[in-house]
Amino acid sequence: MNLDIRSVTVGDVHIGTGNPILIAGPCSVENVGMLREVARAVVEAGVSILRGGSFKPRTSPYSFQGLGLEGLKLLHSVGKEFNIPVVTEVMAIHQIEPAMEHADMLQVGARNMHNFSLLSALGKTDMPILLKRGFMATIEEWLMAAEYLVKEGNDRIVLCERGIRTFETWTRNTLDISAVPLARMLGGYPVIVDPCHASGRRDLLEPLSLAGLAAGADGIMLEVHPDPDKALSDGGQSLSIPEMKKLVFKLLKQSENK
Ligand code: PEP
Ligand code: MN
Repeated sequence: MNLDIRSVTVGDVHIGTGNPILIAGPCSVENVGMLREVARAVVEAGVSILRGGSFKPRTSPYSFQGLGLEGLKLLHSVGKEFNIPVVTEVMAIHQIEPAMEHADMLQVGARNMHNFSLLSALGKTDMPILLKRGFMATIEEWLMAAEYLVKEGNDRIVLCERGIRTFETWTRNTLDISAVPLARMLGGYPVIVDPCHASGRRDLLEPLSLAGLAAGADGIMLEVHPDPDKALSDGGQSLSIPEMKKLVFKLLKQSENK
């Protein structure tokens, strides 16, 4: 088992050095106003990386699909304004180039973890990659997806445990907590926990985040919205700004005590 974690640098943020970091932001970039409001709040709270989806992998083709290139540009300019690195998802090879221009880290979502041509194309870049676990993927398959990046020359990989599909229906997915230490040990990559997609429930974000840190996660990723009930995607699992501030305060305190 490999206990050496290869740290990954995103902007001026180091992930996997033993000091857990926080990523937060809206599920989707909706407009410049909400993004600025969230960015200002997360920076004030001490979050290290701003997230925001612009190419959205929605279950229904009739749901909000994201702002595309316009959203990338907004994310870029708001990241610069508040001096915080940004991460966004790419779903297809042709989105890599514009996303590289506008983001500091690229996310491969759960639905694309098995998209080997996307992974190979990202492997040819030098971008840090946030590789989410597919909701039907074993840890072995997840680590093999990471190998598709490594094979092409990119080992700047951060894994993200975001829950797997089980028979349980009270939660959107089931957070696989044992995957956190296992993927770290077996792969040697930093692992962050996404309690939002794992649970689908705002009321579980605090205990699941704390559990993630206790299991050795190198970071936590949270969804935040100025008015979660009106969010265009994932409102039920998004924190309001005051809730985010409270939880981030707790998580930063917890990680200092490690
Ligand atoms: C997201 O991060 O907004 C997202 C779509 O996540 P996942 O791919 O884990 O469902
Ligand atoms: Mn989401």
